[in-house]
Formats: sequence, C-alpha cells, structure tokens
Amino acid sequence: MKKITIAIDGYSSCGKSTMAKDLAKEIGYIYVDTGAMYRSVTLYALRNGFFNTDGSIQEEALRMSMPNINIAFKINTQTGRPDTYLNGENVEQDIRTMEVSSHVSPIATLPFVREALVVQQQAMGKEKGIVMDGRDIGTVVFPNAELKIFVTASSRVRAQRRYNELKAKGIPANFDEILKNVEERDYIDSHREISPLRRANDALELDNSYLTIKEQQAWLLEQVKKIVK
Ligand code: C5P
Repeated sequence: MKKITIAIDGYSSCGKSTMAKDLAKEIGYIYVDTGAMYRSVTLYALRNGFFNTDGSIQEEALRMSMPNINIAFKINTQTGRPDTYLNGENVEQDIRTMEVSSHVSPIATLPFVREALVVQQQAMGKEKGIVMDGRDIGTVVFPNAELKIFVTASSRVRAQRRYNELKAKGIPANFDEILKNVEERDYIDSHREISPLRRANDALELDNSYLTIKEQQAWLLEQVKKIVK
C-alpha cells in the first residue's frame, strides 16, 4: 500500500491529537504532535526564566538557546502512544499544564522558533507514512501532503472537552479560564504574521462539534482509503 503524508490542522483543543494518534496507530503510521514541540520550547523558556514579569519574552536569550533544545518522541509501552522528551527528560505531563498553555502562543509567533521546528518536522516526514497535527502542517510544513484535514468545533465545545480531560487526570481546572485560553490562542494563532492558522485551499473541513470519536475516526479512515487505493 502506498505511504502518504497526512496533515491535520485546526483550532486549539478540537481533538486533533486524539484523531491523529488513533489514525496513525490504526494504519501503522508515525504520529507527530507539533504542538508538543512548541510546548516543549515554552517549558524550556519558563524553566530558564526567559519570560519577563510583564509576559514579554527574552527573545535573544531564547534564540541563543535553540541549539540546546532537543525534542524527541518515544513510544510509551504502556499507552502505545508517543511521549515527548525535552533534552532526555519525559515532559509529556509538564507541557500540558495551564501555565504552558497560556505562554505557548506568543512563543509560537517567534520566527526563529518556527523555522527551527519546521526543519525538524520536515525531516521527520521525509519518508512519508506520517500523520502530523498542528496549525501550519498543510500550509507550510507539508504543502504537498496527499491528505489535508482542517478540524473545527465551537470554542465552548472545545473548552468543555479540555476541562473534562484535565478533570479526568485529576488536574484542577476552571471552565471559564480554559475557555478564555482557547479563545486567546485561536486569536493569536490565526492573526500572527508568520504561518497563521488557516485552512489550506485543498484541505477537507471537518466540524466535529457533534461527532463522537468513533464517527470521526470512521470518516477519517474513509478519506485515507479513497487516496491510498
Ligand atoms: O496543538 P496544541 O494546542 O498543543 O498547540 C499548542 C500551541 O502551539 C498552539 O496554540 C499554537 O500556538 C502552537 N502551534 C503552532 N503551530 C503548530 C502547532 C502548534 O503555532 N504547528
């Protein structure tokens, strides 16, 4: 069966990662969560004090540190899904906190951060057989991907999902704070100068506000089959 590149883009917390992970597992492809890469850079910046008290970023310090930031993914044998490693440390939990979520979008607007991560993402997908999710995969990272999906859902539905996810993990959560964060990230992601979040002209749009994970998965697999056959 021919291997293709699958690009999944869309708004924050719309279930892109879940659908991309499950699809990759089902068809035996590599899965790459590019949001985890921007989150890892953010965690590094937070840990090293690169955020000023007014929220601005010490850009020069971060730029100089980019060669020291090594991000890798390794399959967790218990979950069967990839965990994110920052300089050899498993940071899968640490990059999902509200603190990281509320600092990541400004980090993702920095051109030197995007350039460095896009080069790594393109290298990961060189052999095809990859499902990658993010904001600019179909537009910038793999503009020639054979299958592009653009996922949307209302901001309230997305905030509710994120809230449920955090609660299920026993992490304290506040719905209004999450909704505000989701809407802020949507705004920054779609208004930034470099690689703003937008639907590629040839992407299929999927509004999953009222779809179950199973229904969504069946739809996605159908789209893959149409191309691979
Ligand atoms: O997908 P996730 O919500 O984990 O991504 C976190 C943040 O990383 C997004 O809000 C966005 O600012 C940034 N991002 C990006 N480009 C990508 C993936 C994520 O700018 N390809």
